Amino acid sequence: MKISCDVIRDLLPLYVEDMLSNDSKNLVDEHIEQCESCRDELKKLSGDEVHSCAVNQIENKSIYDSLNKIRKRISFKIQITVLISVIFTAIVAVGAWDYYDNHRIYMPYKEAKIKWVKDSMQTSEKYRDVNQVISTDGKSLIIVLNRTHRTSNDSSYSDRVIWKGPNREYSYEDKNGEEKLADIEEVYYMSSDAWERYKEREVLIYTIPQDEFNLERYKREFNVVKRKSKLIWTKSNGFIG
Ligand SMILES: [Zn+2]
Repeated sequence: MKISCDVIRDLLPLYVEDMLSNDSKNLVDEHIEQCESCRDELKKLSGDEVHSCAVNQIENKSIYDSLNKIRKRISFKIQITVLISVIFTAIVAVGAWDYYDNHRIYMPYKEAKIKWVKDSMQTSEKYRDVNQVISTDGKSLIIVLNRTHRTSNDSSYSDRVIWKGPNREYSYEDKNGEEKLADIEEVYYMSSDAWERYKEREVLIYTIPQDEFNLERYKREFNVVKRKSKLIWTKSNGFIG
């Protein structure tokens, strides 16, 4: 059976897709063996087929690549977010702990519950530190107790003696940087006003300064804080309370 090239051309696309019945396929095969122009046409169609397949693969690959990029970007964002959260939480936790453990809270005289036991000044209250400031002549001592949020919940602060009393050695560094024994004649407890002033005046927090300028400042500030404090003990009258 002689079939025209036109009919074969109509069949070629189906042939390429392998969608012809065996009889039709055989017809096309027979025709192509003899007809060069149809053979060329078939090559073109097959090439297109292969080409379009390759294009699909490239497109798939680029979609895969961009999905992959998005995935990586999202996971990078998640990692950064987690990292920032961890750092932030750590900072907050450290800050909170520091506040809990280190933030000094003034203890009013009533709360400090200071008592005179035998020959020393004591308390059974929990406190963090005893702050002490001594006058440049070593005769006046101003004390204050503070606590932290932690000490309120912690019974491990067991040193009850706040001041060992006049009969014990109490040494301090004088304006020449020399270690001297104090002969204390009066002890004061800071009021909250005095405590605020004391905290703000760095000059009072360390030892007695050795330079004239700071020594004068120290004396002046000491007297202001003393005036704002409560006299609780004198050498002649003992513990006043
Ligand atoms: Zn032909």
